[in-house]
Amino acid sequence: MDINFIKSHHKLLKRWDYRWTPLSKGYTDKILYINVGSTEIAEKDVPVVMKEKFIGGKGYGLRLLWDATNPDTKWHDPENEIIISSGPVGGITQYSGTGKSLVVSISPQTNSVMDSNVGGFFGPFLKFSGFDAIEIQGKAKNEVIVFIDGINHTVEIIEAPAEAIDSHVLAEQLTEIFADSDSEKRNIGVVSAGSAADHSLIGMLNFSYYDPKRKAIRLKQAGRGGIGTVFRNKKIKALVCKIPGVKGNLNNVVDLELITERGRRFNREMRELDDKQCQMRQVGTAHLMEIMNDHDLLPVMNYKYGSHPDAYRIDSTVWKKNFTQNVPDGCWIGCNMSCCKAVDNFELKTGPYKGNIVTVDGPEYENAAGLGSNCGIFDPWYIVETNFYCDTYGICTITWSTVLAFIMECNQNGILNSERTAGLDLSFGNSLDALELLHRVSRGEDFGKIAGLGVRKMKELFIKNGWGDPVFLNDIAMENKGLEYSQYMSKESLAQQGGFAMTNKGPQHDEAWLIFMDMVNNQIPTFENKAEALHYFPMFRTWFGLVGLCKLPWNDVEPENNATSDEPAKVPEHVDNYVTIYKAVTGRAFDKKRLVEDSERVYNFQRVFNLRRGYGTREHDRQPYRAAGPVTREEYESRAERYDKQLKEIVGFDTAGKTTEEKMKVLRKHREKQYEMLLDAVYQRRGWNHNGVPTIEFLKRIGMDLPEVIEVVKNYQ
Ligand code: SF4
Repeated sequence: MDINFIKSHHKLLKRWDYRWTPLSKGYTDKILYINVGSTEIAEKDVPVVMKEKFIGGKGYGLRLLWDATNPDTKWHDPENEIIISSGPVGGITQYSGTGKSLVVSISPQTNSVMDSNVGGFFGPFLKFSGFDAIEIQGKAKNEVIVFIDGINHTVEIIEAPAEAIDSHVLAEQLTEIFADSDSEKRNIGVVSAGSAADHSLIGMLNFSYYDPKRKAIRLKQAGRGGIGTVFRNKKIKALVCKIPGVKGNLNNVVDLELITERGRRFNREMRELDDKQCQMRQVGTAHLMEIMNDHDLLPVMNYKYGSHPDAYRIDSTVWKKNFTQNVPDGCWIGCNMSCCKAVDNFELKTGPYKGNIVTVDGPEYENAAGLGSNCGIFDPWYIVETNFYCDTYGICTITWSTVLAFIMECNQNGILNSERTAGLDLSFGNSLDALELLHRVSRGEDFGKIAGLGVRKMKELFIKNGWGDPVFLNDIAMENKGLEYSQYMSKESLAQQGGFAMTNKGPQHDEAWLIFMDMVNNQIPTFENKAEALHYFPMFRTWFGLVGLCKLPWNDVEPENNATSDEPAKVPEHVDNYVTIYKAVTGRAFDKKRLVEDSERVYNFQRVFNLRRGYGTREHDRQPYRAAGPVTREEYESRAERYDKQLKEIVGFDTAGKTTEEKMKVLRKHREKQYEMLLDAVYQRRGWNHNGVPTIEFLKRIGMDLPEVIEVVKNYQ
């Protein structure tokens, strides 16, 4: 569409001039508040106590959302907010993985607090424009764009009816509109959703970044929990931020040379070790495909199995050939891990953009495993095409994969059929009908509307309709807290089961990824070891989301001597890099102990936030049995040797002459008991009571005994 035509339909609703605050030691101490309903735009100061206790990123998001909402606020209420914040380290360019932001909102899927991390330009550009966070509230009457002009220091709310909705078109249009020349395109960051976010609860946000080699706009996703749906429900088409450029020391850090030195050290590791270790620069996280398959951890057919003979058809050798090689693929400036691989010159074969030649961002491991093996589809074309459409329609690929895998298993068991799915044959492996369903989600048509509800709400609907056995549906519906599982098969790793189902927001591996430590390397054999890991790693990983960092450079490539260090799983040398960088940015006294303590405060605040909304107790940490063990006879029998051995050696059950059903029953009882014992051990380690609620004494000890927090937890002591 003609850019001038689009611009001619813009109507300025509000302009607000502000006095620019430059960053000092990583912070501006200012928050940008925008109400798209009333068109109020204002600046707020960050209170000292907020900075001390919540640090930035997710911490700021949680603090602001708590204050803006009440315990009954629904996701579609005007007072629900979307908060985007990077963190004090976010936006430096001398170390890899330093451009992340956290997005926080009340989720349409879980009805509780959601956080989702994302790369791209917007978060750092917002900081350079003078704000540590943006807080968006209200609901616009008509489609609007929010434009933050970090050059002229104005913020505008613009009615914008003519632009596209789908992200790959919209981000291009807006970059074109707001950049005065081609060279300025690198100074624009756009946040958008897509047409499927209009018709589903599983919408996500795309954050754009400019790829100078391809001279193209690319997208990174804040995928989890339906925040794109909230965005579209507020009738926001996009947020746009424009800055004069990225150079020098915009964060005004305390010791730039120290950061640069650590950055050089890390870059040397990447040059020397990445090819031998993970090949992140060649295949991104897709290198995990064959590793997961080899260890029986790849989700296959709705997490029934952990490997498949056809997995080689979608493993990293295939992606290496499909990805464009030898181009810098970082989603933030200066990232040498450069893992955001892309398939270029891809011709779309279905949907509204059929025939278009596009660049597809990914697939990453989660997409290849989820869209592929978990749905019984071993076709790279399908994975790339679906990856593209999920992104541009604004749907989380992880969520969509688990939704589709659940639908396919329901179809296999007669819970769904082509009559109930409006003519679609949603059998495992049917890629064409699977794609058609995705297009129907984007159009809000027939069964597409049901699929867009997500797994939990679909499951509840099927039970209400009398379709299928409720126990079976609960067992195979791979969700916890209303959020779909990400793409790892956790049956043989008790610690990973906890890593998924004990999460604050729902089962996403960013909080705890213990599957290798636990199952493959057997580094945490006892309950005490597992509880310690389920304390340390979620706290440690939370910290990345407070300060603006990407987790991948922490442990995807490890220093050569890491194996001989005291605690190799923690990658001590890289932890030391982060401690050094944080101190060098902020000038604060800091060490690795303080790192965990800072996170612990925010982590517990989020747990209490869930509690405030009626969740956050032991019953909400329950997992579907599919995550813990074999639900069906075919699953048990496919790994009968393993399960029989465990029954004999661990449970002390004589399997001789027993039916599969008898053995499954005993195994289930054992595994469910183990999980309850794990909860007890972890709760105790985390300073929580038997019901999973932080004790007042513990909250005092960690400095999270704010009156409003104590007010909530005192009813659960
Ligand atoms: S490691 Fe990958 S995801 Fe992380 S910042 Fe670098 S390019 Fe982005």
